Amino acid sequence: MMILPKSEPASNLEKVNCILCGSWESREICSYKQVKIAHCEKCGFIYRNPRLKKDSNEQFYSFDYYKEYEGIDIKIIEARLDLFRTVLKKLSKKISYDSRKILDVGCGHGHFLKLARDLGWNAKGVELSKTACAYAKEIFGLDVVDKSVDRACLNENYFDTVTLWNVLDHLSSPLVQLKEIRRLLKPRGVLFIRVPNVSFHLFVHKLFRLLPQFLKTRLINDPSVITNYGFSSKTIKKILNKTGFCNIAVYNSPLSSGDPYKSASFNQGFVKLIKLLLNMVSNAVYFLSFGKFYIGSSLIIYAEK
Ligand SMILES: [Zn+2]
Repeated sequence: MMILPKSEPASNLEKVNCILCGSWESREICSYKQVKIAHCEKCGFIYRNPRLKKDSNEQFYSFDYYKEYEGIDIKIIEARLDLFRTVLKKLSKKISYDSRKILDVGCGHGHFLKLARDLGWNAKGVELSKTACAYAKEIFGLDVVDKSVDRACLNENYFDTVTLWNVLDHLSSPLVQLKEIRRLLKPRGVLFIRVPNVSFHLFVHKLFRLLPQFLKTRLINDPSVITNYGFSSKTIKKILNKTGFCNIAVYNSPLSSGDPYKSASFNQGFVKLIKLLLNMVSNAVYFLSFGKFYIGSSLIIYAEK
């Protein structure tokens, strides 16, 4: 399981309640090293509990996040380039051509924004990481603010679209940030989100624990990703409804190419084949269940203000 940060003093952690229903009753469903993942007894939402306090969380993403990722972050981005193009094409169709203002929240080094700008979008980003923010500004000449979206003092009713690529699950208060994003969007503006699908990642984590030890250490690392929040198709719809979004559409995300996280030590062609099969199976399940079951590793969501 991917854990972030890799170590932290217990004094930086706090017990939290469910952000969807407010209940304090939660049950631990899995743990990995010092990370404990809980399940809300009332509404089923999955989240990390105890969790890093808000300031410690922001501190981590401002200074340490990319250190833990050193060397692989660019590979993750490269693996997503095709997906970036597909999403920008889809967003272009939803938005009029005379005004295309895009805000990327947690824009990292700015690869997605650069692509958007090259395709004619008026691009802006917010990014907590000081080093990633400086890179986006200096190397790509992008307009990026090194603050969280709720502290960046951006204009109300301004953006045609706001995007969050694998960011929402890392935030300490997604409700606050989603409300702020809604305020920044123009009426009928489009929100795009990509998040790991917690149903898939919990299943993978449980499956991985059943593997014999020699396989775990030599051939494969636990590829599951659960950070501060684990969203499923149901809970992502709930949080978007709760923050005032409408016309919410959830899909299985096409997979990024290759194995940028280096979860397997064997042939990359094999990884590609597994991913292709996973993609086909998840789309077939989605289709045959009339859009009820999502078993892909990530979800993509479009919603409107
Ligand atoms: Zn709950």
